Amino acid sequence: MNNHIPFLSKSRFIKGLQCHKALWLLTHHPEVQDEVRASQQAVFDAGTHVGMLAQNLHPGGVEIPFEGLSVPEQLAMTQEEIKKGTKTIYEAAFSFDNVFVKVDILHNGRKGWELYEVKGATEAKEVYLNDIAVQYYVASGAGIKIKKAALVHIDTSYVRHGEIDVRGLFAVQNVTKTVLERQPFVVKELKAMRSMLKKDTPAIDIGHHCFEPYECPCRGHCWAHIPSPSVFDFADLGKPDPFTFYQQGIVKMADVPREALGWRQKLQYDGTLHRKNALDTDAIQSFIDSLWYPLAFMDFETTCLTPIPLFDGTRPFQSVPFQFSLHWFDSPDGTLNHREFLAQTDGDPQKDFLTTLLDSLPKDACILTWNKGFEGKVLRALGERFPKYRNRIRAIMDTMVDLMAPFRRKQIYDWKFHGSYSIKAVLPALVTELSYQSLTISDGGAAAEGWLRMRGTSDREEQDQIRRDLLEYCHLDTLAMVRILEKMMGMCNILTERKIGPRKNKRPSGR
Ligand code: SF4
Repeated sequence: MNNHIPFLSKSRFIKGLQCHKALWLLTHHPEVQDEVRASQQAVFDAGTHVGMLAQNLHPGGVEIPFEGLSVPEQLAMTQEEIKKGTKTIYEAAFSFDNVFVKVDILHNGRKGWELYEVKGATEAKEVYLNDIAVQYYVASGAGIKIKKAALVHIDTSYVRHGEIDVRGLFAVQNVTKTVLERQPFVVKELKAMRSMLKKDTPAIDIGHHCFEPYECPCRGHCWAHIPSPSVFDFADLGKPDPFTFYQQGIVKMADVPREALGWRQKLQYDGTLHRKNALDTDAIQSFIDSLWYPLAFMDFETTCLTPIPLFDGTRPFQSVPFQFSLHWFDSPDGTLNHREFLAQTDGDPQKDFLTTLLDSLPKDACILTWNKGFEGKVLRALGERFPKYRNRIRAIMDTMVDLMAPFRRKQIYDWKFHGSYSIKAVLPALVTELSYQSLTISDGGAAAEGWLRMRGTSDREEQDQIRRDLLEYCHLDTLAMVRILEKMMGMCNILTERKIGPRKNKRPSGR
């Protein structure tokens, strides 16, 4: 390779398109990169899994491994396979013009070589087209006559039945024409990046490009000068855009002219800077009056939005419920009851989840959830999957009430919410005796990951530990709702000793 020209990889090229400074930092000071978060790693791992599955679109190929081989070895092995007449090569390696790329699937089809880039996304995006364009540039430059360049992405209409059918799960979009049109762009951008890399750090300030198309790994470095609280701490971002303030030199929250803010931002501004809270007792009173007994508190845990459907009858990116917690009072003087469900370590959990839930819910209960859109979506999908239960599911959905709504509407606002209405923000502010902080599993993503880990391990001790952690977490979610409602009632002076719940104790007619 020519050492006078800075070496670039496909991913560096993409990073350079996002921000020249990012490319410069990753090239000259890679140590400034932020640590990869567990959630980001999970996305990378899911991408690898999707890539491996898509190889079955052209099965029987030879893979050029990343690990254990140097770049020259990967290049040599690729050339060897091509010379041998290998029809399909996975992770084929090419270098041209001092740019190194790996091609997800290179297949020698009827008309010649076909290049496939696999993404666990649902549609073509600019960044994917540029990704394929640079692969085409390098592979063609290295002597491969590419007849077709295609993006392989997820087809959301696919429904799993038995083993994954890769021809149903993946859509193949021929992007050859677009990729050819972009070749001059690739050449121009490479030239600009190389020239930039020979100079000092580019003078590029933070902006929307720090997040688009990907969150930049240099944020810790470039954002170090942002104080706290700042214009970027407003929870309702976008109205107005915090970068508009930033570009005017307004960075601290305290420097923002209050009149420039929307009403939600004003609440956060007054709360953060002056510790002011807000309470609309009439609205809270009427919310509480709309509830009835039995009064239940329900929470679901579901799998992450994975591109590959895990179970029969599910689509890509469909959440599958595996756990619920349910607390309830039968009457204002009743004791607090609890039931829970956590799916076994094998099989599809959906039917057991649904039937246990239907058996557990008290008849005609008012069901409080936190963000009822989420639970409603899960229930709707279960109704589609199990039509026999559709009417009972509909009846549950008709009686669901969103406990989050008064918080989203800012009818209760505590400065310690910091603009958020997530239960994770509301609970510690209102109910100091309960906390997620000491839990091993403390959010929905960790619960989903834990459940999959519990299913994947044969170590009984590990399974039991994860089971305990999951039960503890989901139990806290519904207990938190009980205590938050108690606090809301206390704020309206309607909480009497040993009683929780609304004044009305009958299901309102018409529900
Ligand atoms: S954090 Fe923003 S400004 Fe800094 S390198 Fe990344 S994209 Fe560029």
